[in-house]
Amino acid sequence: MKPTAFEYVRAGSLDEVLTVLEERGDEAKVLAGGQSLIPTMNMRFAAPEVLIDISGVTELRGIEVRDDVLRIGAMCRHVEVLNAPEVAEHAPLIAMAMPNIAHAAIRNRGTFGGSLCHADPAAELPACVLALDARLNIDGKSGPRSISARDFFLGTYMTCLADDEVLISVDVPKVMSENVTFFDEVARRRGDYAMAGLASQATVRSGFITDVRLAFFAVGEVAVRAPHAEQALQGILLQDMDADAICSAIADDISPFDDLTTSGAAKLTMMQVLTRRAVESFAKQGAHA
Ligand SMILES: Cc1cc2nc3c(=O)[nH]c(=O)nc-3n(C[C@H](O)[C@H](O)[C@H](O)COP(=O)(O)OP(=O)(O)OC[C@H]3O[C@@H](n4cnc5c(N)ncnc54)[C@H](O)[C@@H]3O)c2cc1C
Repeated sequence: MKPTAFEYVRAGSLDEVLTVLEERGDEAKVLAGGQSLIPTMNMRFAAPEVLIDISGVTELRGIEVRDDVLRIGAMCRHVEVLNAPEVAEHAPLIAMAMPNIAHAAIRNRGTFGGSLCHADPAAELPACVLALDARLNIDGKSGPRSISARDFFLGTYMTCLADDEVLISVDVPKVMSENVTFFDEVARRRGDYAMAGLASQATVRSGFITDVRLAFFAVGEVAVRAPHAEQALQGILLQDMDADAICSAIADDISPFDDLTTSGAAKLTMMQVLTRRAVESFAKQGAHA
């Protein structure tokens, strides 16, 4: 199918994006890499009257190392993030996740910000920013604001962005030497959307594990933390971690529902397998910290 007719505006600056968004309200949609929006329009699930192409807006580009955060521009393409040495050094969790996002052709066009704004529950990056407690920088008619990843995602394909707002960049706290990180997912083939996935980070100090964040994806309406399982790990001496107890706590946190390919029960088992792998990996990384 083909999309319905639309106007196309190639914005040259952030001001221009915000002006068109203010004038056209919910008739307008921002176009980043187009890897999700264009198929949606082709299937006529979306029919915006105007597309605002943000690919030429310099304010949305670039990866910058700041004092204690790594700032990733919303318009950074997946391939740039995948290949950036700054990401590998300061945000290894994101570097681990990137090769799992789709295939090279899609990573050449798709963007970091587009993936977050699209808020697909099976996408890797929402879970990563949740696990890293990142902050999302937004601008719009009522001025700039910064919001925690915890508050950004509202549901399947739903975020807290207003119609006149744009995601500008994401501030990811730089990894510290005491941090341990783990990323893994179960997918039918490499590059397919995951059936279940886990992005996680914790801190190990004097052999004790703290600040545990387990963020699961492809198991619910939105990427989700697992507070009971996190609590079962919190403050525990590495060698005393009880993988069985932590894995069974997952069932108290999340009841995955069936999707087109995978039953909720199978997803729960995958989550427990991933959690066990995370615990083993934390123990190994912590022993060398
Ligand atoms: C075959 C295929 C397989 C894929 N597999 C995966 C996968 O395994 N994992 C995965 O995570 N993704 C996957 N994707 C999705 C891909 O990562 C997309 O690039 C991503 O979801 C959307 O990014 P985009 O830049 O293309 O955004 P677009 O398609 O341009 O936009 C998506 C939505 O976000 C909004 N938007 C974009 N940028 C901004 C911004 N800065 N501010 C406000 N709103 C904005 C748009 O208006 C639109 O509503 C796949 C896509 C395809 C086609």
